[in-house]
Amino acid sequence: MQIRYETRADGVRGALTSGLAAMGQAEFVLPMTPGMADEAAVRVLRYIADYVAASGQHILPGETMRYGWSTLRFSPATADGGLLLIEELADPFAATADSFIPGTAHAVAILQEQDNAVARHGIPRVAHHPHRSELAVICRRLAPSQPHKVMVFDRLKAKASDDSGWFVGCGNPAHDHNDLHELARIHLIYLAELDPKVVYYLAMPEDTRVVFDRGKVIVFAPGQQDGRLDEGMGL
Ligand SMILES: [Zn+2]
Repeated sequence: MQIRYETRADGVRGALTSGLAAMGQAEFVLPMTPGMADEAAVRVLRYIADYVAASGQHILPGETMRYGWSTLRFSPATADGGLLLIEELADPFAATADSFIPGTAHAVAILQEQDNAVARHGIPRVAHHPHRSELAVICRRLAPSQPHKVMVFDRLKAKASDDSGWFVGCGNPAHDHNDLHELARIHLIYLAELDPKVVYYLAMPEDTRVVFDRGKVIVFAPGQQDGRLDEGMGL
């Protein structure tokens, strides 16, 4: 696959693929909306091309694909004869997921912030970037829509493909989290609705603990007994 850049009829620069037609796949155009660097566009297009090559499946107009936290959609690009226009969720932090906008700038920015959070705490590896639809186990005392002051996130080994591995406790050592009646499973997007900031910590690997305590964030790297106050959120 090759990538070239062209200014499209609407005046927006686009990154266009070539070479996928040989696999029977329509070519893609990715609008270079504000905040999109060329190397980020290359990563997105390679990810899509790798999926097509590895799966043997063709991506058709109207189909969607997970990309990190967010979801991409492929729409017929009428101004670009036969190309598929790459779009992303307009609001990746809202539970409703029916509105898309051109480009991938928001999806890419979330991945970058997640990687930055890992690097900032000297944690040697980034883990799976969970999609917003993946599940977490949560203490029932943190029922969504109720105010909460403390949330303790622990990343455990994921047991299924739709399981993010995140366990979210209330931080009360007297509360028995081994009692299954005290726990619930929820999609990560509902945690994002409680506090969008949590999304930026979700790529931390197994054995990481992240404590959200009255507006402060304290990160316990794997194997560390002492937490470090996070002061580096770039957004
Ligand atoms: Zn609890």
